[in-house]
Amino acid sequence: MTTPSLYQRDAAAISKMSFLRFFPQAVVGGDGAYLIGDDGRRLLDLSASWGAAGLGHSHPSIRKAVNKALESQAGASLLSTANLPSVELAEKLLSIVPKRAAGRVWLGHSGSDANETVARAVIAATGRPRILAFNGAYHGGTSGSMAISGHPAQQGVAKAAGLTLIPYPNAYRDGGAEQAEAAAIDHLEKLFAGPVPPNEVAALFIEPIQSDGGMVVPPQNYFRKVEALCRQHGILLVCDEVKVGLGRSGRLHCFEHFGIEPDIIVFGKGLGGGLPISAAVGPTEIMNHSAAFSFQTVHGNPVCAAAALAVLETIERNDLAANAAEVGQHLTDGLERLKQKHRMIGDIRGRGLAIGVELVTDRMSKTPARHETALTVYRAFELGLVLYYVGVSSNILEFTPPLTLTKAEADSGVDMLDRALSDVAEGRVDPDVLAAFEGW
Ligand SMILES: *Cc1c(COP(=O)(O)O)cnc(C)c1O
Repeated sequence: MTTPSLYQRDAAAISKMSFLRFFPQAVVGGDGAYLIGDDGRRLLDLSASWGAAGLGHSHPSIRKAVNKALESQAGASLLSTANLPSVELAEKLLSIVPKRAAGRVWLGHSGSDANETVARAVIAATGRPRILAFNGAYHGGTSGSMAISGHPAQQGVAKAAGLTLIPYPNAYRDGGAEQAEAAAIDHLEKLFAGPVPPNEVAALFIEPIQSDGGMVVPPQNYFRKVEALCRQHGILLVCDEVKVGLGRSGRLHCFEHFGIEPDIIVFGKGLGGGLPISAAVGPTEIMNHSAAFSFQTVHGNPVCAAAALAVLETIERNDLAANAAEVGQHLTDGLERLKQKHRMIGDIRGRGLAIGVELVTDRMSKTPARHETALTVYRAFELGLVLYYVGVSSNILEFTPPLTLTKAEADSGVDMLDRALSDVAEGRVDPDVLAAFEGW
């Protein structure tokens, strides 16, 4: 009898309800931008666990902070006591957001619980029953965050009673940036003039780049116009920075690229550098709505808070936003060179180290190359590159590597993707390899 592999043991023990698997990846460690497979291979991780390992794996400053917090752990929770790491983290977050958002910080475990809490709080605190969000938006995987999301992977899940989904302008698919922006603004104005009275809307949730929806970068002035409409009608602008925030876009906050100032900002994923923690930061009158309104037991866990504080300090000290801008440009240049030779690449977009590569069956029809995308990430994994895909049609390769990525690592990733795309285009990847991988 052969010993089962780590991947087989996982399948035999862990519920697949939380699986989002693309290839048989099993890892036993990590080091910077590399994961160490159970077969001893070093895998270049250009996903960074969907951006959650934003400083890479086993970053020394996170290890140091976590070890220190565990030496004499200040409880496990902020529910019934103050602890220093949570307070310091909150103070730090208040110092890095625009003044209009710098009221109070709510700490949670995940982007999902933070978005869910904000969705409840804005309705409760304003007395307005409605929320606007985007088609394709991903705000989380709990009932309350799915209820305000528009991603097709969550079809069939109950939506919030007051939710209206609006189109996210997509320059590649909607006739260019100008036309896409005009149509999306027109849609919003017509809603306000008719079925969705703006004085009933508590908040509009945005992703400054719609990541799980396909790494869609909005037209440059779109969110400024949305912000103006929100201000005009007293609607809170909630910015979900969970995936693209905290340096990843080449700026500390992704919304800075678009010249807007949200009222409420949600952080997650990279905030904990691989540990579970999230934060919602906003005006006191909303974020202090009432006590015992939204909590789970280990919110404000001092170990996770210490990790998050180390993440923020490291991003600042090492100017990782600047590194994301520079290496992101280098990576994008490399991908643009691949576009010259691979007909399957229809569009490349992003900011900093948040990059999407859209694969199409041909550039005229722009038909999503869903099957080829799944084969490409599978083949890339065989070659040593970890990359997942996103998008409402599952055809966008998503790059959210560690902010510490080097140009040499970026080049190595481009080389492996080059080979993977050739192997897929030339039929050298057996389609049957996908049978066990449902993706999304
Ligand atoms: C991942 C994600 C979330 C949810 O975060 P979880 O940590 O999975 O709960 C929310 N918003 C955006 C934009 C995300 O990418």
